[in-house]
Amino acid sequence: MSTQQCPCGTGKSYFNCCKIVHEHHEKAITAEMLMRSRYVGFVYADGDYLLKSHHAKTRPVHEKKEIVKWAKSVNWIKLDVLKTSKGNLEDTDGYVEFKAFFFENNAVQVIHEKSYFIKEKGRWYYYGAV
Ligand SMILES: [Zn+2]
Repeated sequence: MSTQQCPCGTGKSYFNCCKIVHEHHEKAITAEMLMRSRYVGFVYADGDYLLKSHHAKTRPVHEKKEIVKWAKSVNWIKLDVLKTSKGNLEDTDGYVEFKAFFFENNAVQVIHEKSYFIKEKGRWYYYGAV
């Protein structure tokens, strides 16, 4: 697995990409990096990471099982990051607009979302869709 391309689409191996963020949250130095690592969290149905990287105020603590079940039930195709604003090293919040493609019920589905991210104590968190 470690030599395979990261599912987030950067072209790097998972080992040199989102795995680093999965193991060390603070290594996501931009909102986009956190966004990409969360997409891979869905691909790998990593409920712990998806909750951990979700802001405490909006964290779906009671839905972890459903999220994991759903993430496993679909076949993830790819992530396209369309646009980012702020969310850089010097910022404390930012936006990432993306499309996440997956197969569900034999059809290609897409989640098109503009997400809001907040940085607290040096860590980016997903806050929710705008
Ligand atoms: Zn990645």
